[in-house]
Amino acid sequence: MRLVILGPPGAGKGTQAAFITDDYNIPHVSTGEILRDNVVRRTALGRQASQIMNRGDLVPDGVINDMVAQRLAEPDTANGFLLDGYPRTVNQAQALDALLAERSTPLDVVLRFVVALEQAEPRILGRGEGRGDDAAAAVKRRFEEYNNKTKPLEGFYAQRGLVRDVDAVGSVEEVRERVAKVLSGVEVGS
Ligand code: AMP
Repeated sequence: MRLVILGPPGAGKGTQAAFITDDYNIPHVSTGEILRDNVVRRTALGRQASQIMNRGDLVPDGVINDMVAQRLAEPDTANGFLLDGYPRTVNQAQALDALLAERSTPLDVVLRFVVALEQAEPRILGRGEGRGDDAAAAVKRRFEEYNNKTKPLEGFYAQRGLVRDVDAVGSVEEVRERVAKVLSGVEVGS
């Protein structure tokens, strides 16, 4: 199973991603996590990304595309993978398409987590992000980036017939059941 999870910040993607990767025995590839790990380890990439991330801006496409290409070259992705937080721009989606086409391993499904932005933003603030003026501005900025650059991906993938919607409003268990139901109907390529 090769899948992408799309949805605004605060839609519960990370939580559900952990269940999916357990159930399907595939790695959870979160670009945000890889970046945060680089920040902690103070790598060149981490130093380059940390200020951008603190502002809530997107890290440049070229940097992210290279990072993902490297991660997807690792052998644990042979059975599939779940991408969480990537792609976030049309450029990234095109780079991913090209990479997967080269390997003849196209995506099976794009799960779109549907939640009104008015419901997602309080969730982000509620988990302790956005305290202080700078942090609040960064949360606002992340939603702007999502609307401007990531939302267009819904159309990009819908054109390819890959998008399945999941109502992301409800308890973790409720959403988990909806996800399982949607995925059980997905035909998985080789
Ligand atoms: P996340 O944990 O997915 O919300 O990502 C945290 C931050 O990392 C984002 O606000 C961006 O600054 C950066 N980031 C993560 N994934 C990407 C991506 N695919 N493209 C650009 N920036 C990203």
